[in-house]
Amino acid sequence: MKVAVYPGSFDPVTYGHLDIIKRASLMFDEVIVAVMCNSAKTPLFTLDERVKMLEESLKDLDNVRIESFDGLLIDYCNKENIHIVIRGLRAITDFEYELQIAQTNKELSHNKVDTVFLTTSLIYSYLSSSVVKEIASYNGDITPCVPESVADRLYKKFGHK
Ligand code: ADP
Repeated sequence: MKVAVYPGSFDPVTYGHLDIIKRASLMFDEVIVAVMCNSAKTPLFTLDERVKMLEESLKDLDNVRIESFDGLLIDYCNKENIHIVIRGLRAITDFEYELQIAQTNKELSHNKVDTVFLTTSLIYSYLSSSVVKEIASYNGDITPCVPESVADRLYKKFGHK
């Protein structure tokens, strides 16, 4: 059984993430979306909220599971016996950082963990969680960027509606 993990902060999940997850779910028997607890960035949403939003957005995909993890991704992969990491690439600016992380994970795992990159669908190439938060903070229209339930939570966080 081919299992892959898609790690990230998902603060909050966007249509860009969801597109990658849906496409990955067609390639692997199971995709575990792993929400990081220990991101260097201070998240807007709590871990529970981030997991909840993913669960609400992905309830129709039977082979996708939402989990969270703390510490090194490699330790999580070891514990769960996972050998494939999925990451999304939006632009050349993502590449340098992602390449470094992928090579680090390969080294740390003694070549047991490889990273598979999926390139963004063009319509989502501009999308990031940070951009969505910025628009929502000014009460701008985020309906093209995130599912309705995520948009509601975002507006509420910023005291709109
Ligand atoms: P991080 O906090 O590690 O940057 P994110 O939660 O923002 O992680 O994103 C997780 C993964 O999703 C990363 O590989 C990122 O490149 C990818 N990603 C984010 N937005 C998009 C998008 N619009 N299209 C494709 N991939 C994306």
